[in-house]
Amino acid sequence: PRSEVTYFGAGPGPLPTDVLEDAAQALLNFNDTGLGLAEHSHRSALATKIINDAKADLSSFLDIPDNYEIIFLQGGGSGEFSAMAYNFAGAWVARKHKELGSNDSSIQELKSAVQDLRMDYIITGGWSQKAAAEAERLFGPEHVHIAADSRKTNNGKFGTIPDETTWDLSRDSAMVYLCDNETVHGVEFPRFPKCLEPRPDGGPIVVADMSSNILSRRIPIQNYAAIFFGAQKNLGCAGITVAVIKKDFLPQPSATLMRQLGLPIPPRIFEFETIAKNNSLYNTLSIFDVYIAGQVLRRLLLQHPDKVRGQEAASEQKAQLIYKTLEEYPGVYHVIPDKSVRSRMNICFNITGGDAAEEEFLKQGIACGLTGLKGHRDLRGIRLIDLSDIIYTWGFGWYLAWLAAGKRRN
Ligand code: PMP
Repeated sequence: PRSEVTYFGAGPGPLPTDVLEDAAQALLNFNDTGLGLAEHSHRSALATKIINDAKADLSSFLDIPDNYEIIFLQGGGSGEFSAMAYNFAGAWVARKHKELGSNDSSIQELKSAVQDLRMDYIITGGWSQKAAAEAERLFGPEHVHIAADSRKTNNGKFGTIPDETTWDLSRDSAMVYLCDNETVHGVEFPRFPKCLEPRPDGGPIVVADMSSNILSRRIPIQNYAAIFFGAQKNLGCAGITVAVIKKDFLPQPSATLMRQLGLPIPPRIFEFETIAKNNSLYNTLSIFDVYIAGQVLRRLLLQHPDKVRGQEAASEQKAQLIYKTLEEYPGVYHVIPDKSVRSRMNICFNITGGDAAEEEFLKQGIACGLTGLKGHRDLRGIRLIDLSDIIYTWGFGWYLAWLAAGKRRN
């Protein structure tokens, strides 16, 4: 039974049982309408209410100001790798076009300006690397600039964040892209990078993937042009992705202009301006998935009167408890990323004794109802995600200590 399993999967992540119980009922007969939520029209008043409530609760929990648009999309986090490149390249062109005007000679000027269109990427793990590769595939390597790559200063491996003073940021880039928490490599930005902070002239246009640490700490949202996250880790189930975009960056150039400039245009379903204009209902959205996300948010708001601050304190406490335990047994456990950038959400570590010892650890875990601890196939090792409950976390810490003490005795 569910009550005997503790699940550590990074995504899909575990959902609160009471949310799922309500959702099961909603799937059969939503609010006594005789129809389930997956059957009701996405254009119905109840669907609109579910969307608007989820947006309002997300804004309230994270303190998102009115000059940002919240949209629900499909295509997962990976869809956003493409969407962010399309929309921010488009927004860059729209700005230049406005500056230069639209007569024939200014189109020529715009064509030459486009040669300087750059999207900067800070590579700190597998997900930012994939995002940069996608932008390169869509726009060509000439428009993608790797401003920093942690492998360069860490023997070809991820696990650090290069010192900001070494970042080679382009002037006037269409966006600076980073992944706030690298789920596979367990690397999290400890704070918003100083060099990307807003300046009187506006400053860099920052876009961040927050798929695996959203809702777990405060976000200086005004420093970002956009953030995004797939729902399936901390918010709900797979099927919807959330993007929060500063309204200034929504306007897009016409498809004709982009073609004239030799630049690609996004499929409509990835064009933020269109999705925002339609309150996320340009096409059929899974209202059931929005409902689940909404229920998780409602529950978080009830649980934490001080909203994300409460969740931030809890996440910090849980992560420190586990890292401290791992550090107490250096002969047995080895935390993979550098101490300064360790994720509070995905704790990645190896066990002395290599693959065989890790297989044994996973087998023992499963026997005790601890599942989903296997690290990502690209990195291996053990990966532990943030548990909803401090008591479970404490219990897991105790379990790690008990196993390590046993190993030492043997
Ligand atoms: N970004 C991050 C940080 C992720 O952890 C993941 C998925 N694990 C993705 C993007 C990709 O998400 P999806 O599978 O929804 O495309």
